[in-house]
This record gives sequence, structure tokens and C-alpha cells, in this order.
Amino acid sequence: MHQFLNWFSTVGAGMAGPVILSRGSETQKQNYLPRIARGEIEFALGYTEPNAGSDMASLVIHAEDKGDHFIIAGSKLFNTRAHFAQYYWLGARTAETTPSHKGISLFIVDLKSPGINIDPIWTVGGRRTNAVYFDNVRVPRAALVGEKNRGFYYIMEAVDHERISTVGGLTRDFHQLLEYVKAQRLGQNPLSRQKLAELAIEIESARLLALRAAWMLDRNQLPNYEAAMLKMVVSEIEQQLVNTAMQIMGPRAQVKKGSKWAPLNGKFEWRYRDSLEELVTRGTSEIMRNIIAQRGLKLPRI
Ligand SMILES: Cc1cc2nc3c(=O)[nH]c(=O)nc-3n(C[C@H](O)[C@H](O)[C@H](O)COP(=O)(O)OP(=O)(O)OC[C@H]3O[C@@H](n4cnc5c(N)ncnc54)[C@H](O)[C@@H]3O)c2cc1C
Repeated sequence: MHQFLNWFSTVGAGMAGPVILSRGSETQKQNYLPRIARGEIEFALGYTEPNAGSDMASLVIHAEDKGDHFIIAGSKLFNTRAHFAQYYWLGARTAETTPSHKGISLFIVDLKSPGINIDPIWTVGGRRTNAVYFDNVRVPRAALVGEKNRGFYYIMEAVDHERISTVGGLTRDFHQLLEYVKAQRLGQNPLSRQKLAELAIEIESARLLALRAAWMLDRNQLPNYEAAMLKMVVSEIEQQLVNTAMQIMGPRAQVKKGSKWAPLNGKFEWRYRDSLEELVTRGTSEIMRNIIAQRGLKLPRI
């Protein structure tokens, strides 16, 4: 089931690490950053709840301030990596406020803490994510990242980092399909040619958006709507790619890995299912368009 997975320190290096660097205490920096850099630890992202997904500010999991520690109670949904990561990057409510995002704090929680229970949820692509339950989990005050009740802003920084997508996987998938078309002598089919040419253009535009994000990071600027553009474009091009593969390969494209009838050993049968989650994780395409409209084009918030 896990043959395609190699996620270690993805969240640590790419999302939590940069925010620990900018917002964490000296102790947190010394404790986590060297181990992230060595690839020794991983974090699970704990934002989504049964009633808080796109609208993350409406999260309700409660962290009660007890002075030298907090007591956390509630549940999270779709928290990938929680079953193997060492730490939780957890958004929890520390105040009832209007607007609601001003009462959220960010914690780094040891996933071995007593009172944390994890149930698996399997995606259509065969990946594991989790529902996680906090039964009065005691968390030391030192686990608080930055200031209490400022966590939403830190989470938004981490999310901007999370949306900076790479184009390498998409490019590799495209070239596999292209090689298949050439090997099967399907290259004269006008429809296939048109679709492959369109994909080549789209992938090149995604690559340029990725380079722009890298260029901004090099200048200590955090891509925001630029990261949303990149995330949305990469996930939507992947949909075009898997749909094109299905059309070019025909009914055999649905045959699973392991069968002698499966083109490319079922690669696109799996990617067709697995790529769906990319439209949802890290924010849906609708949310990306809202961010681009509001922050990039300065259109009013709705
Ligand atoms: C496989 C997988 C792994 C995940 N891993 C993690 C993880 O590790 N950690 C974590 O915290 N979360 C994780 N998530 C959760 C993910 O971030 C949320 O599912 C996502 O943000 C959408 O939230 P929701 O599912 O509650 O959908 P909703 O927010 O209920 O959205 C439902 C639909 O309404 C649309 N919609 C919502 N609001 C608006 C709006 N304002 N304007 C226009 N359309 C709107 C959405 O686009 C969507 O189509 C994961 C999800 C999946 C599927």
C-alpha cells in the first residue's frame, strides 16, 4: 500500500521548519531545526476538523491555559502523517473571539503524549490520512509557538510555504506518457498530439510559476497568492494529464498494477485515483481562486 510514499520531513523542512525559524523560541529552534535538517523528525499538520476545512478560522479544538501548561480536548480530521510523525503542528482555540481567527494558537505537540488517539482514513489513491482525538492532552507552555492567540497568522505563513509546489513529478509523469505514445506509435493521432502539446505548454507555465516562487524565496519574500497560483495550476494540470492518459490508453488504462495488461504497469490507473486529493489538500482550487482574486487582483473579499 505504501510503495509510493516517501514523505519523511516534508512538513518539517518545508512548512513547520521555516515558521519555527521566523516565529519560534530559541529553545524551539535549537530543539527542532537541526533534527529537521538531518531528516530525523517529521511533523503532522493539525488544522482541519470535522467542521473546519476551507474555513480554518472556525476550528474549535480547545486548548485551556493552565499557566505552565495547556489542556487540549477535541478532534481533528484528515491529519496525514499523524500515525508516524513525532510531532504535531497543531492549531487550537485559546480564546472565543470575534473574528474567530484571533483566538487561535499554534502548538508543537509530542505525538506520544498520553490522550492522543489516531484512527486511519484511506484515500481513493490508497494513502493513509487520519482522524485524531485529543482526550485532555497535557502540553507544556514551552510548546506554544510565538504569541498566544496569534497562531492563525503563523499557520497562514506555514500554509503559504505548503502551497509552493514542485513541477518535477508532473514533468516526469508527462514524459512517461509521451514515451508511451511514441513507443506505441500513437503519435499521429491528431487528438493525442493536440492534448500533449497543450500539456507541454501548461507544464512549462507551471515551471515558470515555480521558478518565480523560488526567486521570491531567494529574496526573503514569502509567495502568497503566487503560491496559490502555483498550487492550483500544478494540481489542475495533473488532472488534465491523467485524463489525457486515460483517453490515449483506452480501456486498458483502468487495469491495475501487476497485470500484464496494465500499460506502464498501472501507473496512470493509480495516478487517476491518487491525484484527486491534490485538488483538495493544501486548500481547494476554489479557495486558491479566491486568494488570487482577493490578494493578487485586489478584488473585494466575499
Ligand atoms: C487526502 C487528504 C489529506 C489531507 N491532509 C491534511 C493534513 O495533513 N492536515 C490538515 O489539517 N488537513 C488535511 N486535509 C484537509 C484539507 O486541507 C481540507 O479537506 C480542505 O481544506 C477542504 O476542507 P473540507 O474538506 O472541510 O471542505 P469544505 O471546506 O467543506 O469545502 C467543500 C467544498 O466547498 C468549497 N468551498 C468552501 N468554501 C468556499 C468558498 N469560500 N468559496 C468557494 N468555494 C468554497 C470547496 O472548494 C469545496 O469544493 C487533507 C485532506 C485530504 C482529502
